Amino acid sequence: MATATATIDLNALRQNWQKLRRLSSGDTAAVVKANAYGLGVKQVAPALYNEGARIFFIATAEEGAELRSIVGKIPDIYIFSGHMNGDTDLIKNYSLIPLINSIEQLSRHCELSKEQKFGIQLDTGMNRLGMEPMEWETVKELTLSLNPVLIMSHLACADEPRHEMNAMQLQNFRRLTNKINVKKSLSATGGILLGPEYHFDLTRPGIGIYGCSPMQDCFSVLKIEIPVIQIREIGRGETVGYGNTWTAPSKRKIATISAGYADGLFRLLSTNTRLYFQDIGCPIVGRISMDLIGVDITSLDVEPEKLELINSQQTIDKIAGGAKTIGYEFLTSLGNRYHRNYKGLIE
Ligand SMILES: *Cc1c(COP(=O)(O)O)cnc(C)c1O
Repeated sequence: MATATATIDLNALRQNWQKLRRLSSGDTAAVVKANAYGLGVKQVAPALYNEGARIFFIATAEEGAELRSIVGKIPDIYIFSGHMNGDTDLIKNYSLIPLINSIEQLSRHCELSKEQKFGIQLDTGMNRLGMEPMEWETVKELTLSLNPVLIMSHLACADEPRHEMNAMQLQNFRRLTNKINVKKSLSATGGILLGPEYHFDLTRPGIGIYGCSPMQDCFSVLKIEIPVIQIREIGRGETVGYGNTWTAPSKRKIATISAGYADGLFRLLSTNTRLYFQDIGCPIVGRISMDLIGVDITSLDVEPEKLELINSQQTIDKIAGGAKTIGYEFLTSLGNRYHRNYKGLIE
């Protein structure tokens, strides 16, 4: 089989969630938007439910409807994008809780589904989603009379603990929710690490569950193994791959492995990335193609059947950094071609 394998360790993922739960002073939700950060919401959500997660956040009503059919009736499912035109039936039929982002969304929600639960998202400085402070002041009394179940906001710089934006947003959130007796939520993974004053009643970790920065000391959730299709010996001065970007400085043994940028292995990884055979790292040589990568395996004294890109010694963060991106983007770019293998699957 030439298909690369992505092994997702659901036990590691569950332990990461438990760690975030122990760090949080209130309740702990789980963010499973974008197909659980690319790792598979059908497998990830039941694992977290089994671990005790009863509150989930996703990006859109469509994702919410899918999640409801996976986790059943009990958990709360919040939608970051709020109540958009066309969402009403999904919100009603799947009991989703939109996080209302504007007066427009508020009136849509009231008109179309008065008895449906809702939360409020406030903008405390990120200028991405949520009601502006002025807007909030105008509809605050009315909104509170409709009994929202949650008031939340989101931090822009929580992965930089010393950034002044954190304290400023905390202060804004406190001011906008002062004396309001509704459950509150401000922090994702980064905010959890800023300390308990950022936690309020509910935290919303995502990336930490999946074992990436800014979470520290987490369990490794992903292993990527790529089959070797062919091995060849080349002489000094021969080149490898498109554009002849790499020339062998001496006699070399080159493995061609079966994955490429169509599998989220960005072309930027062509320099400074290694594939592992046991604990020996072998460098990528030449350009990464759509489906193939050249690897210099001269240092190995065996002909490997496969090489590892992500494992406990070469983390997602390390590889993402090599491609000048972050774990979030690497994970959600993996694509559909991997053979996905789940450890600790809940049947
Ligand atoms: C994605 C997201 C989260 C989760 O963030 P992580 O950094 O992955 O923990 C929480 N809240 C909001 C509003 C988000 O968009």
